[in-house]
Amino acid sequence: MTQETSTGTDRASELSTRLDGLLTRLDAAVAAAGRPAGSVRLLPVTKFFPAADVDILYRLGRREFGESREQEASAKVAELAYDDVEWHMIGRLQRNKARAVARWAHTVHSVDSERLANALDRAVTDAQAAGERTAPLRVLLQVSLDADPGRGGVEPADLPALADLVAKAPGLHLAGLMAIPPLDADIHASFAKLATLHTSLLAQHADATELSAGMSGDLEIAVEHGSTCVRVGTALMGARPITSA
Ligand SMILES: *Cc1c(COP(=O)(O)O)cnc(C)c1O
Repeated sequence: MTQETSTGTDRASELSTRLDGLLTRLDAAVAAAGRPAGSVRLLPVTKFFPAADVDILYRLGRREFGESREQEASAKVAELAYDDVEWHMIGRLQRNKARAVARWAHTVHSVDSERLANALDRAVTDAQAAGERTAPLRVLLQVSLDADPGRGGVEPADLPALADLVAKAPGLHLAGLMAIPPLDADIHASFAKLATLHTSLLAQHADATELSAGMSGDLEIAVEHGSTCVRVGTALMGARPITSA
């Protein structure tokens, strides 16, 4: 018991220190980009880390968390039972998980097909009818910045049609775009391309203002190119026990 408590305290001070450092780093990136203070949100990515870690971050004032695997997220959401937290699904999502995600997610960052968007819309309207949620689901469209289908993301050519479909879906709210730069690509060029796609989207959908871009290794570059939400795991939580899918 004493052992457990001291371990918990160590982790709490570690996360507190890392969080302070990360917020300082983010503020510096925002200032360096000449953008207004507070214009980029930090989304802590807690996948592969236990609910106890999420609770430490909650006590440090965080109210948004990103998860990438539906079952892991559902379990944490149920265990923690917060009533003032927004949970984000950031990972690839199969259509057969739409119903489960509709019960807990405030935002999904990874919508990349009409079939998935339709499944989520149905799941959300059913969840609303069953009293399981009230708000529509905020949706970010994940864009592919290369031609690799393995990484997910809608092709830029198919983005306008998908955006129109999501904007019309009663259970969904089109909130913006998300992308993960290809591994071997020039990160500046990738985020510049994403920014251009976002500008085009905004011309048609003025309130789709969110741009989810930037992770532990590249958040400064993403902020330079207009990110409004950086998704940070490793730089906050430490190395994940196994590589993420
Ligand atoms: C895991 C993950 C992140 C966080 O990546 P880090 O490099 O650990 O900061 C961000 N976005 C997505 C989609 C992820 O799956």
